[in-house]
Amino acid sequence: MKRDRDTTDFRGVAARYRERSDGCIFCDVDSSRVVAANELMVAIKDAYPVTEGHSLLLPRRHVASPNALYQPVINEMWALAANVRGELLAADETITGFNFGSNDGASAGQTVMHAHLHIIPRRDGDAERPRGGVRGVIPERQAY
Ligand code: AMP
Ligand code: ZN
Repeated sequence: MKRDRDTTDFRGVAARYRERSDGCIFCDVDSSRVVAANELMVAIKDAYPVTEGHSLLLPRRHVASPNALYQPVINEMWALAANVRGELLAADETITGFNFGSNDGASAGQTVMHAHLHIIPRRDGDAERPRGGVRGVIPERQAY
């Protein structure tokens, strides 16, 4: 029936997913550095790793805040996170845990204004006092 036709024009939606920002280093990642990917995300190794294996998951679409990601990107981000986590564990039996995290805004420590998820492998004994993990963003408040 004519009135049942979906006339939504999705061309604008597709264009949003292609958004890139000139000069952004995470919009312009060389394919040789990509260690894992899916349709909406790529994973690379962090250039200044906190621990060996530190990886970054980058949405292909440029957006500054991790909280501005579209839901399909969030779904793919966490699917890719599971893959990367599994690959890191399979490749390195010294890994015994992970920190997953995003810095949202310069006040929170974000330095590259293209949203990304850090995956930081952890190993027993790699820090003197690991208790509290990501609470360490304010070092004196890490332990509780
Ligand atoms: P953030 O401070 O959360 O914005 O994280 C930015 C991360 O990007 C840091 O962990 C840096 O080590 C990493 N980084 C900076 N420049 C590059 C680069 N060219 N390639 C890969 N990682 C980078
Ligand atoms: Zn970007």
